[in-house]
Amino acid sequence: MARVYNFSAGPSVLPEWVLQKAASEMMEYGSSGQSVMEMSHRSSDYQAIIDSCRQSLVDTLHIPEDYEVLFLQGGASTQFAMIPLNLMNGSGRADFVLTGQWAKKAYQQAAKYGRCNVVASSEDGVFSYIPQIDAQKLDPQADYLHICYNNTIYGTRFPTLPSCGSVPLVADMSSSILSEPIDVSKFGLIYAGAQKNMGPAGLTVVIIRKDLIGHARDITPIMLDYKTHADAGSMYNTPPTYAIYICKLVLDWLNNEMGGIEQIQKINAQKAALLYDYLDESKLFSATVQGECRSLMNVPFVTGDKDLDAQFVKEATAQGLVNLKGHRTVGGMRASIYNAMPVKGVQALVDFMARFEAAHR
Ligand SMILES: *Cc1c(COP(=O)(O)O)cnc(C)c1O
Repeated sequence: MARVYNFSAGPSVLPEWVLQKAASEMMEYGSSGQSVMEMSHRSSDYQAIIDSCRQSLVDTLHIPEDYEVLFLQGGASTQFAMIPLNLMNGSGRADFVLTGQWAKKAYQQAAKYGRCNVVASSEDGVFSYIPQIDAQKLDPQADYLHICYNNTIYGTRFPTLPSCGSVPLVADMSSSILSEPIDVSKFGLIYAGAQKNMGPAGLTVVIIRKDLIGHARDITPIMLDYKTHADAGSMYNTPPTYAIYICKLVLDWLNNEMGGIEQIQKINAQKAALLYDYLDESKLFSATVQGECRSLMNVPFVTGDKDLDAQFVKEATAQGLVNLKGHRTVGGMRASIYNAMPVKGVQALVDFMARFEAAHR
């Protein structure tokens, strides 16, 4: 067996410790005589798994008591509609910062439900930076302000959070959750598809301040009402049981094997520095994002020559460095270096880039 270094933006690399643990428990979980996949979600064995996953997430992110953690399905994309249905019910207005395709999709979907204002955008620069937000433009009566905290496709991340007073800040954290400590109390709602940094596809995690629950408009389908899931402990219907179990293992790995979230943040900073430092020195490759907006998770880069980019991706693949092709809207390459990517994976990439550069100068 030869495992590759997988730089996919999502679904993405999982820790080997997690895969091995899951493999060892595949045929029988504990002394249950069954796989987690086969268990009733109403069983006490499964209840213990989901409880442990929730508690571990609360402990890892220091989620305050006035927040609910929900395990949902439908991906981050379903949240684009679920959020306005539940939250856009005061003034019926919300503010949006457009920093990429996901932010734009969230905005377009919410625009079906109320008046959406774009308060800042970096579309003019192909989303290669995080725009300044003019405080004057923020609507003090908005039902929420939506940001995409880490922009998976373009490789940017908010260097600081916008201050929006009492307006709830809503953040798509699909590609950065668990990569660094966050102050949850600064947010009204945080959501993330699990397949980037928390586990496999099929699970969406929502962390929501409790007072924002219970105000969904009447037309809201039961399954899209946060209250339904909060009241039922994310067990209104069958939750994505196996994905939640893997998410629990990822949290066990993060806390017990890697030393916790502060430690992971340090390692992530180290990995990103390895790559950005090389890119900044390189005469062949360059990063598409500059300065403090650079993401620690997704690093897009180019040679400036499409054919050379394609050749790089092809040769890297042959070296076991896979999924480096950039998003079709940016071109070039993108290395996603989530928590589960080891330092030596990034080192292997940088070493290969240096060899490629030497051969193509
Ligand atoms: C991947 C991604 C999405 C889409 O997630 P789905 O779970 O596929 O709906 C949305 N936002 C961000 C920031 C992402 O990285």
